[in-house]
Amino acid sequence: MRLGTTQQGRCIAPERPAGRNVAPVRVSLSVRSLRSRLRHVPSWRVSSSPAAESAGGVGTASPTAALERTSLVPDTLREMEQDTELQQHLAALAAAGQQALTRDERLKRQRSLDALGAPSFYATCQSRGVAPLKRSPARILQLNIGLYCNQACSHCHVESSPRRTAEQASRETVDRCLALLGGAATHGTEGAITTLDITGGAPELNTNFRYLVEQAAPLGVEIIDRCNLTVLLEPGQEDLVDFLARHKVRVVASLPCYSESNVDQQRGRGVFERSIAGLRLLNAAGYGVEGSGLLLDLVYNPGGAFLAPDQAKLEAAYKSELGSAYGIVFNRLLALNNMPIKRFADWLVRRDKLQSYMGLLVDNFNPETGASLMCRDTVSVRWDGTVYDCDFNQQLDMAIAQPGASASSRPLSIWDIQSLDELTGRPIRCDNHCYGCTAGSGSSCQGAVA
Ligand code: SF4
Ligand code: SF4
Repeated sequence: MRLGTTQQGRCIAPERPAGRNVAPVRVSLSVRSLRSRLRHVPSWRVSSSPAAESAGGVGTASPTAALERTSLVPDTLREMEQDTELQQHLAALAAAGQQALTRDERLKRQRSLDALGAPSFYATCQSRGVAPLKRSPARILQLNIGLYCNQACSHCHVESSPRRTAEQASRETVDRCLALLGGAATHGTEGAITTLDITGGAPELNTNFRYLVEQAAPLGVEIIDRCNLTVLLEPGQEDLVDFLARHKVRVVASLPCYSESNVDQQRGRGVFERSIAGLRLLNAAGYGVEGSGLLLDLVYNPGGAFLAPDQAKLEAAYKSELGSAYGIVFNRLLALNNMPIKRFADWLVRRDKLQSYMGLLVDNFNPETGASLMCRDTVSVRWDGTVYDCDFNQQLDMAIAQPGASASSRPLSIWDIQSLDELTGRPIRCDNHCYGCTAGSGSSCQGAVA
């Protein structure tokens, strides 16, 4: 199996996205260097206790260090305005509309595969012995409750940003999902939902986020918050960590590298420093600390057109680097591949790398991932209640169809079904982006699958 440009066990430097004005690459920061930088970040500052000052480093600072909070949103908007690629995309979006751009994106991927002479994803699965692509009883209900985010990452597959204010789950949508979740968690005939996976955008910034968590907690399901870490520092979120801990929410946090420059290139200037501060708040509340019962997992995704390195080796490197430099602890690292859709697809097209990246995914097709594809047991619901096999299909408008109807007919919504059991046995809607889930060790919202 060819692993392309993957470097095993290392979080390697991303290829620099155009329009991002970043500092030169440095592999790691010393504690003193971080302290010095924190003192000079104009929009956010941290002050620690006198004892920690005399001890000489952030790694020894009080975990309850007083934070002077300012929002990341103005910085993100400023960076977006300076990002010429993003501006071109937004202009195209305004001119052609989302559906036309999505169609165009699919065509480009298809042409790349045609040029490679690659077969369809269905054909590859069939010829390589993967079990039929049909839905199993649902175990995970994943809700994307809105696309608003305080960041605008260059590889974001949902194209979130502070500008996405329109797409937000209403109380009505949340209540309907809770009703389905309650039925599935307690009365499911074919098994029970074990997990409510809340994503976005920055889901915590949706006005219904805390209501959703409070109502779901008594149902006894695991609740996941897909957290970008910087949201913990947003004004108005001072009690967010306590809220998450009180409800035993598992935090799954994005941190695509343990080096500042790599993270800032992909996620925006200043994001690494805020992320480290967010991790320190979580650790101080017991998150990631052995025996606390509060789980903190980190998520890695590659900084360019290569596959995720070996998850176990990378986890060891993360633990070593974050532990020694910042005293950060966490439970597991989830290593994901980048999907060739949305901002990452645009990024590939502009660098003329879409064909080679698709080739990398196809060449590294791993049939052992087939049984664990997340679409088999996950139900993905969009902010407006439309139902999908996964979050990627959600971003490509590939909804589950009404029973007996064609895929292009009215999409299935949460108001069309009485129980999640009704989805069991339905065919999964796949396309060539699915090669991203089967390449190498595979990729899912729970990390590698093989
Ligand atoms: S933090 Fe997550 S949702 Fe927000 S822009 Fe970045 S990748 Fe997208
Ligand atoms: S992209 Fe979605 S539908 Fe395709 S294989 Fe991955 S999880 Fe399944």
